[in-house]
Amino acid sequence: MRKEVKVNGTRAVHAGERRAKAHHAVAHPIVATATYTFETSAGIGDHFEGRVERNEYGRYGNPTVRAAELKLAALDGAEDAACFSSGMAAITTTLLALLGQGDHVVMTRDCYRRTRQFVIKTLARYGVEATLVDPGDYAGLEGAIRPGRTRLIVAESPTNPYLRVADLERLVAIKDRYDGVSLFIDSTFATPINQRPVEWGVDLVTHSCTKYLGGHNDLLAGVVCGRAALVEQVREFRGVLGCVLDPHAAYLLIRGTKTLELRVGRQNATGLAVARFLEQQPRVKEVFYPGLEGHPDHAVAKAQMSGFGGVVSFLVDADLDGTSAFVDACRIPQIGPSLGGVESLIMQPTLISFYHLTPQQRREVGARDNLVRLSLGIEDTQDILDDLAQALTALERA
Ligand SMILES: *Cc1c(COP(=O)(O)O)cnc(C)c1O
Repeated sequence: MRKEVKVNGTRAVHAGERRAKAHHAVAHPIVATATYTFETSAGIGDHFEGRVERNEYGRYGNPTVRAAELKLAALDGAEDAACFSSGMAAITTTLLALLGQGDHVVMTRDCYRRTRQFVIKTLARYGVEATLVDPGDYAGLEGAIRPGRTRLIVAESPTNPYLRVADLERLVAIKDRYDGVSLFIDSTFATPINQRPVEWGVDLVTHSCTKYLGGHNDLLAGVVCGRAALVEQVREFRGVLGCVLDPHAAYLLIRGTKTLELRVGRQNATGLAVARFLEQQPRVKEVFYPGLEGHPDHAVAKAQMSGFGGVVSFLVDADLDGTSAFVDACRIPQIGPSLGGVESLIMQPTLISFYHLTPQQRREVGARDNLVRLSLGIEDTQDILDDLAQALTALERA
């Protein structure tokens, strides 16, 4: 059953932090140390027996990183969280920690490109098999489960670049019908402000904190949160692989997360306004945004999310060069990959993600030459709308 977690600005500011901090500081201290000392040899036993709360070595823990983890766990309504040096470090460590030879994974086809690559190519080398299913095909997903062998269902919501939204309640109902299957959701595009998969019964949730949580395009980080026993298994393996978050980056993540609710509120509002505006433009052929009534997953998004996010994808009425002319004419969004920061970014997936493919190969992977992905920052909504309007006139000239 869904239990509503009260996630708001207060939680984003205060959760995970002690009220009384070292040196009476308001801001969380950056504990920049690689190792920790013991006053006497007797203290070592107290540490290993769990009688005192302390750290031993930087690869196993850091107080600044721990504060970031507790804040992110609180925002997602999760029992625990573990942070990593990047989103991909969080995802790959989780998969390596939970899977072994002979295990099987069911994954939706529109997962993040590098996640897909890791599951299909790398895990295969370690004897883990994967079956890919189309987004929205719940019968196909259940049919792909091999009872006794399938350990994980991996999905993303919303996805890139078409913003497909997975019905989390349905996915949980499916995985609950089989023993030993856990559900792992990449919720990066939603943030804990718009969607909290743990509330729906999802076992593990990941975010690339590089995106909205950090929020300022100035750090790389990842997090996995969810059931304490699973997070502990992943954390143990992080200590082996060593892909820990640096305390300086953890501080930036804490600072960024404090304003998450404000930023995402603006990004939700601008996202919806931009999607509605683009829908009305004669030189825009199709708009992909879960907040639009015509989006295939609008009903699910409405039931499951409290905002539709700051990414809008759309097809313009132009070829590859004409699309580039429109993108180049934008004065506020800068051209670049990534999303979720305070600066708006725009890009053609064909040119950034699929640059090395031939036009024929691009068609085969469904990379459309006239597709644009716009990741909204926190600039004024009206300024963005005005900028898009003037950039669209570049299409008339192209
Ligand atoms: C960016 C991203 C990742 C990878 O995160 P990094 O921090 O770049 O390693 C994973 N999943 C999604 C949905 C992303 O957008």
